[in-house]
Amino acid sequence: MGAMDPNPGADNSSLPAEPFEENANSSGPTGWIPENPITAILEMLGRGERFLVCSHSRPDGDAVGSMLAMGMLLDAMGKRADLVTADRIPSVYRSLPGADAIRCVMRVHGPYDAAIVLECDSLDRTRLRGLDPFYLVNIDHHATGRAFAQLNWIDRDAASVGELVYRLIQAAGVHPTPAMAKCLYTTILTDTGGFCYGATRASTFALAAELARAGADPVRIAQEIYYSAAMSRYLLLGAALASLKREGRLAWLSVSHQDMVRTCAAEEDCEGIVNYAISLAGVEAAAFLRELPEGRIRISLRSKGRVDVASLAAIMGGGGHENAAGVTLDGPIERALQEILTQLQPAVESISSRSPGFEENNFDRRV
Ligand code: 5GP
Ligand code: MN
Repeated sequence: MGAMDPNPGADNSSLPAEPFEENANSSGPTGWIPENPITAILEMLGRGERFLVCSHSRPDGDAVGSMLAMGMLLDAMGKRADLVTADRIPSVYRSLPGADAIRCVMRVHGPYDAAIVLECDSLDRTRLRGLDPFYLVNIDHHATGRAFAQLNWIDRDAASVGELVYRLIQAAGVHPTPAMAKCLYTTILTDTGGFCYGATRASTFALAAELARAGADPVRIAQEIYYSAAMSRYLLLGAALASLKREGRLAWLSVSHQDMVRTCAAEEDCEGIVNYAISLAGVEAAAFLRELPEGRIRISLRSKGRVDVASLAAIMGGGGHENAAGVTLDGPIERALQEILTQLQPAVESISSRSPGFEENNFDRRV
């Protein structure tokens, strides 16, 4: 792999298929948001034979679970599906049914009737090359979601993209198998942070109950995801907590690349570290900064709901949800931190000015 390779760790292979020529540059205009997206997507799936299913780089539980469930739906409809991501599947999700069939690639090509892009607010988020010529279907739930595809379904109220895939499964008249249920339950559990974040509603529990009845085992899934940590995760957490700082309603922590190397941490060991900063009483917004091997800084932002971190991330070139967002900035860590604090400080100050007489010691708002 060359020095300029933007995707170290991928297996560098492309999909084994003929070049996608007949439809190249003829996939039609982008931006269509149908009135009934479920019907439009099912009609499109019904017309095609072979589909590419992909999600964002550094896939999380929603990315992996929704891809797998979408692949299973297509299989149940008698279609062929190839599942790809730009980065490896984190080890806690590798035991999901079918996860070993997801291929880690840099570039896609093949005779696909459409590419289904899950959980991405732009095509860039996939970090896959070669998607542009395809007829694209965008299924997303991010606050920063955009209609970048030919066919777009963006439901910002959905707890996970898996929830949207489940609606497709139901509308297609497909009986959800235990394997589908396990994948979809995983998307809800992880994207709501264990039923804690803002998108958690009564309907989220109703859906979780349906999936449990369909064969998802909540205890086993929680154990596989939350009680299967590598030692490196806690060694890295120790380094992060040693850096924890707080200023009023803001808190942040960070790890250097050297911390990652010293603790033998994998990227997935960083997941959840930001929660220690946002879980402090009285803190309204938090950031976790991680130095990447090439020196850029990957940032996770969280809020308890009164600061919209998605719009702040979007200003800096990132995106996400109002309560959980991310962005990558230039290093070093101190510089990126200043940029983040410059955005966050006025946002939390505006909360203070909206809450006159607010005493920090009295603060006991629940997430
Ligand atoms: P995390 O902090 O867990 O990596 O990401 C939190 C949320 O923000 C996720 O929904 C994720 O998809 C989104 N997100 C994280 N980083 C980026 C980014 O660089 N660009 C965009 N558009 N969204 C991001
Ligand atoms: Mn999601």
